[in-house]
Amino acid sequence: MKYYVIKRDGRKVSFDLSKIHNAIMRSAKNLDLSVDITSISQAVENRIRETYKYEINVEQIQDLIEDTLMDLKLIDIKNSYSNYRTERTRVRELKSELMDTVHNIGVETDRDNANVGNNFSSKLLRIASETNKWHNLSKMPKHLAKMHELGDLYFHDLDSYNLTLNCLHIDTGKVFENGFNTGYGTIRQPKRIESAAELSCILLQASQNDMFGGQSHVNFDNDMAPYVVSTREEIHTEYAPLKDALSEDAFNAFTQDKLITRVRQAMQGIVYNLNTMHSRAGSQVPFSSLNIGIPHSEDAALVCRIFLEEYEKGLGKNEQPIFPNIIFRVKVGVNRDKKDPYYYLFQLACKVASTRMNPTFMNLDSDFNLHYYNKGILPATMGCRTYICSNVNGPEGPNRRGNNAPTTINLPRIGIEARGDLDRFWELLDEKLHAAKESLLHRYGVLKNLKVKDLPFVVGEGLMLGSEGLEPNDTIDPILKNGSWGIGYIGLAETLVALTGKHHGESSESRELGYQIIQCIRDFTDKITADTQMNWSCYATPAEGLSGKFIAQDRVKYGEIPGVTDKEYYTNSFHVPVGFSISIPDKIQIEAPFHKMCNAGHISYIEVDGYPTGETIEKILTYAYSHSNISYIGINFHLRYCKDCGTYINEHSMTCPHCNSTNIQGVSRVTGYLSLDERFGVGKSAERRDRLSHDGSNKNTYTSL
Ligand SMILES: [Zn+2]
Repeated sequence: MKYYVIKRDGRKVSFDLSKIHNAIMRSAKNLDLSVDITSISQAVENRIRETYKYEINVEQIQDLIEDTLMDLKLIDIKNSYSNYRTERTRVRELKSELMDTVHNIGVETDRDNANVGNNFSSKLLRIASETNKWHNLSKMPKHLAKMHELGDLYFHDLDSYNLTLNCLHIDTGKVFENGFNTGYGTIRQPKRIESAAELSCILLQASQNDMFGGQSHVNFDNDMAPYVVSTREEIHTEYAPLKDALSEDAFNAFTQDKLITRVRQAMQGIVYNLNTMHSRAGSQVPFSSLNIGIPHSEDAALVCRIFLEEYEKGLGKNEQPIFPNIIFRVKVGVNRDKKDPYYYLFQLACKVASTRMNPTFMNLDSDFNLHYYNKGILPATMGCRTYICSNVNGPEGPNRRGNNAPTTINLPRIGIEARGDLDRFWELLDEKLHAAKESLLHRYGVLKNLKVKDLPFVVGEGLMLGSEGLEPNDTIDPILKNGSWGIGYIGLAETLVALTGKHHGESSESRELGYQIIQCIRDFTDKITADTQMNWSCYATPAEGLSGKFIAQDRVKYGEIPGVTDKEYYTNSFHVPVGFSISIPDKIQIEAPFHKMCNAGHISYIEVDGYPTGETIEKILTYAYSHSNISYIGINFHLRYCKDCGTYINEHSMTCPHCNSTNIQGVSRVTGYLSLDERFGVGKSAERRDRLSHDGSNKNTYTSL
């Protein structure tokens, strides 16, 4: 009589003994055991036909295989078979999870990354991204994949694990001098400020399509200055006939006016372009950063000033430009003090930040930045906070370099698992640091297989340090050697609460422990840098996409622990929790020492109520920079404006005082970049809601600065 097997998808197929034979053979083979497979599988078949009369399903067959092996006392083969079966089940579940994910993306892209949109291109990219995440997890060693899946570690941008690197500081001036090719023809060195400005955007866009993170112009104002010079010459030539009719002063004033109009047009073009031109298959605008503020000439200062003024104007209806992130570098002797030649630029930057939350401010007088500055290297940062300066394999400094990839440790989980035992905590931390190192070494092994032609623009066109002399089929290894590997952490505050009951804002003992913990991560990355001759660094992870993920996993695993897992997100890196009432000076003093430790990137946010003035921001920064070794600071507030007329609206009002519209747009900085409020994920929305300003609760803190 014909006997049937019902498969998992419901189809009925004829019974096939060879499949059972093969499965048992595979299990025995793994153990190097020689047994009579034919008689075992015959025993299984007999048992099947005795137990089920006409048909049987796959799970039932597998149960009977295990039972038969047990009865025959073939315990090792039975265990090997069970393991194989469990593994297959896991793969099936993953596949089905993947299908669910694909289905859900079809409805709406997820909000892990606040600046990715919801159109068709975004959805398609998300589906590819989820699929490749799955692919990469299934290809890596199982114990690593498990650590990522279970939430011990987080491999950032897993969808790009086998495809590309994170980010890059573009040496824009040099790229312009040499010309470049985006794949469709050669772009010569620009002759005018307008074309230089346009090409600066195209550089960011073209680079972004080769990489998974953001890009910066490492020294924007200075790199644009030569094109102010050539534009001025052009204007002088064009209006030469007027020279005889006008006095020299009048002629110079006339041509300077013309020049400023053109620089203004060019800078306005950058703001508009960077908020409209798409990268990555149209799913987002390029994640872009501009480093400015240390002009080497009056023309560079002009670019800096006009760029800030144009950014301040916003978009067509006064909307907030989400990009670029602007990093204004502050330095005594250049722009910080009233007597400094470019103090007016610092003042202007503070004023712009008071309405636009950009620029953010980097302190070149903090000792670790000064160390490079004094050597003639100008430190810069990505607006998302990624920082790179040291280099064991080539020239130091940020130029033409970036981060290869970060791995982040779930620090609060170690705090929970230590159960108050500090010795246990240090042991667990050491284990996790080694695991993070192993994960990045594995990633390095995968990335080394990439060739120059796989990153055709950033490597093929020589934008990255190490690409000199490489051919299209060469490995990108020399580039990886000049990039950095970041070991990051999230939730120092919750870790300290788990360990001591108090976070670093609440108790000085916890604070000391907090410094020790992060210094331990830094010591580890320094040590393995010396051991491996690779650039390892300690990263204050911004928690992009991660703010809600780790805590959700930990809540399932450990339940609700007060002050640790009883909310929607773990606190960003070393930050004092956003809902904790603290004065500005205290926040600065507590967070400042972490900046130096986190040499892969760091930022502190000062949250203020309503709209601060430029003077307030200048006061905060001057206090911070003269009283601590802090470097990178962003001033945050909840920016809201009327989408119909552009009027700025105060924190709580739901209607526009000017046109009565209720079409109100909120913008916040929750992680590295500004985002429209509706684009936040659950964790980040909760963080936005919980934020307490650092002046609102202590009304007199401005005067204490
Ligand atoms: Zn309005």
